[in-house]
Amino acid sequence: MSISITRATFDKVMVPNYGPAGFIPVKGLGSRVWDQDGREFVDFAGGIAVNALGHCHPELVAALTEQAGKLWHVSNVFTNEPVLKLATALTEATFADRAFFCNSGAEANEAAFKLARKYAADHFGTDKHEILSCKNAFHGRTLFTVTVGGQPKYTEGFAPVPAGVTHVEFNNIDSLKAAISDRTCAVVIEPVQGEGGVLPADKAFLEAARALCDQHNALLIFDEVQTGVGRSGSLYAYMEYGIVPDILTSAKSLGGGFPIGAMLTTEKVARSFGIGTHGSTYGGNPLACAVALKVLELVNTPAMLDGVRARHARLRQGLEAINAKYGVFKAVRGMGLLMGAVLADAYAGRAKDVLKAAEQHQLMVLVAGLNVVRFAPALNIEEADIDEGLARFEAAIADFVTPR
Ligand SMILES: *Cc1c(COP(=O)(O)O)cnc(C)c1O
Repeated sequence: MSISITRATFDKVMVPNYGPAGFIPVKGLGSRVWDQDGREFVDFAGGIAVNALGHCHPELVAALTEQAGKLWHVSNVFTNEPVLKLATALTEATFADRAFFCNSGAEANEAAFKLARKYAADHFGTDKHEILSCKNAFHGRTLFTVTVGGQPKYTEGFAPVPAGVTHVEFNNIDSLKAAISDRTCAVVIEPVQGEGGVLPADKAFLEAARALCDQHNALLIFDEVQTGVGRSGSLYAYMEYGIVPDILTSAKSLGGGFPIGAMLTTEKVARSFGIGTHGSTYGGNPLACAVALKVLELVNTPAMLDGVRARHARLRQGLEAINAKYGVFKAVRGMGLLMGAVLADAYAGRAKDVLKAAEQHQLMVLVAGLNVVRFAPALNIEEADIDEGLARFEAAIADFVTPR
């Protein structure tokens, strides 16, 4: 017996924590997606900065299916080849000496925050447990990570939340300086605030954070869950800024659509996660690691990273041209292929309406808060798809400003 699945099914059987679009995607290839009715969409959303190489990239399909015929899961009671290859590749490509794997960005951050507390407890005592993070930051949806995140709407109704977390103003050195102390175990920053509105950090802010952490024996954590794996135009955004953290978290693009998270750190800090201190049943799963290894191999090349910069320029130019005609945005900002168009005051609070208008023109985009339309397409999106997506976006904006 076959059941007919429609968008209405969602409202009947799913917990109502999401409000997905009106269509159901059933197939994707590159930066195009098709719904149940065969309608074709241009994908500027990239599964929220996840589908780094678009949909069904042949080499990722091959890596996944090859591993699927070999070994799916053994747990961390045993190690496996794909996880060791991926850890080797990530540590060779970054500042880090050691890797820990999990299944999502929130889990990677959870591991980072726990490690920072444990490291401080090991070396300086348990009084040094305070975590500083930024207002408007997003670090995931577990209770600890929503608490560290700087958006009160995500902790409302979930009290009591973990203690020892203080928020400072993003990009405000004085605010960070005033809050940091010898009780601070870590400062966590997104190099570009993603969910908070696609807002890049100032280099001076990250430099000050690095210096203040060193001064107070605190660890600097970069949450690169959204900015990592080529999205910024460098493999990781910290490389773009030239400021090196002690712990880095990665997820989203790392798996190209297969769930995986990673926490990278130095030899010295890693030592505080001794046997039995932390873990994850699925972490380092062979399927996820085989895919991530292929993603890393394909993304971490000069041609791919230069391509991200070129695509950034093309997308930015297109968005600015649309804005020159319609005047709907007060800024187009971001890095690499993580871009945001900030609505002008006259349209404040209406980013979701732009997303809906785009859906009508068969274009998938994202929002970041109430005022920012966000774009996070595949790093290898074809020029023709950028141009077609921009044409559809212009048509959507025309509808948005003058509803039919
Ligand atoms: C998406 C995101 C997370 C959470 O990742 P999940 O995989 O949804 O748990 C954490 N930090 C940042 C910066 C993100 O963009």
